[in-house]
Formats: sequence, structure tokens, C-alpha cells
Amino acid sequence: MIVAIDGPSGAGKSTVSKLVAERLGFSCLDTGAMYRCVAWRAAQEGVDLGDQAQLGRIAREARIEFVHEPGSIAARAVLVDGCDVTAQIRTAQIDRAVSAVSAVVAVREALVDQQRAIGAGGDFVVEGRDIGTVVFPQAEVKVFLTASNEERARRRVAQNAERGVGSVDFDEVLADIVARDARDEARAASPLVAADDAALIDSTRFSRDEVVARICALAAE
Ligand code: C5P
Repeated sequence: MIVAIDGPSGAGKSTVSKLVAERLGFSCLDTGAMYRCVAWRAAQEGVDLGDQAQLGRIAREARIEFVHEPGSIAARAVLVDGCDVTAQIRTAQIDRAVSAVSAVVAVREALVDQQRAIGAGGDFVVEGRDIGTVVFPQAEVKVFLTASNEERARRRVAQNAERGVGSVDFDEVLADIVARDARDEARAASPLVAADDAALIDSTRFSRDEVVARICALAAE
């Protein structure tokens, strides 16, 4: 079974996905981390963000691995070609670079293939932007999670503070997420949009536990 959770940055997808997966006994797949890994690798290699051929090559060649503790649902670490990039893919620099990378068709094709291969291996809660529309259009449960811009910025600041990476300046984070969402919505390839059959949940209006309960109820239907 696939539970697809899409939505803009900071809507609470990561936290909610982990809690839903825990309740259902599913694994979690964070597809945004994969786009971040390609952006990180491009920066390492000094590849220009306008060089679509090189970005596509990186997406095909980079070995992205999620490291799990035995029995744990969410990945403890993300590796690219054996290098632990868990913190490095969360910097403000990667936040700004990633939407140029994710707009490249060849990058999306390579990562979508990998995501489908991972998802075919069992029951997953998959979070991203195009999971219900493109990656798993046949997903049994589809949710589009949103929240107000201010609420999303507040959450992202709290998450960055907890992780110890990325900006904790509210205005800077707000400007960044609004700009990133605008780029994700405007791109030609798989723009950020709710699937026609997705349940729309505005997490500004509900507590985290209420959102989790609603999604688990959808999975039980
Ligand atoms: O979820 P996260 O903020 O880590 O995603 C980083 C970026 O990766 C998004 O802004 C978007 O450009 C891209 N992305 C995507 N499709 C997905 C997941 C993420 O285009 N399924």
C-alpha cells in the first residue's frame, strides 16, 4: 500500500509522514531528500544549475542511500556515494538550489524511477510534491497537505533550529519558502499541484495529531 503525502515546503509533511508510518507500521520515503542530494552533488562538482545534461547525469549516477536503524521507520542518515550528507542537504544554499535541479526533466525521470523501485518493495508513506500525480498515481491514499505561509515558515524555523542547520531567521525563511513554492508551482515538469483525487488538509486548522488521525482513517477505509 502507498500513502502519498504531497504539498508545499513546511506544511508538516515530514513529521506527519513519520507519525502515520509509525501508526500503520509502514516505511517512510522522503523524496525531497533525493532532489536535495542531486543539488548537493552538483555543488560538489561545481556543475552549473543551468546545465541540464550534467544534472541529469548526476541524478542517474549518484548512489543515494537511506540508512535505517534496524526496526526504525524514518531514515537516520542519507548517503550520496557513501558520503553522509544528512545535514549538508538541509542548508539554505541547497534550499535555494534545489528547485532549479528539480525542474530538470532528466533529473525527475531518474529519481522517479528510483522512487518507484523503492516503493515497490513494500508498504510506504511517500512524501513529496508529485507522488499522487506522477510517481504513484495509483496510491491507495492521497493527501495534499497545506498550511498558511506564516505557519510554514514558523515550522521550518523550528525544524532548522532542532536540526542545527539552515536559517532560523523568520523573514528569510518565509521569503525562501514562498519563492521556492512559486518555482515548484510554475515549472513545466510535474508542477506542484494536488491530485484530483487527493484529500486536501490544511494543517493550520488542525493539530498534528488530528492530521495524523485523519490520514490513518483514510488508510483504514
Ligand atoms: O520536501 P523538500 O523541501 O525537502 O523538497 C525539496 C525540493 O525538492 C522541493 O522544493 C522541490 O523542488 C523538490 N521536490 C520535487 N518533487 C518531489 C519532492 C521534492 O520536485 N517529489
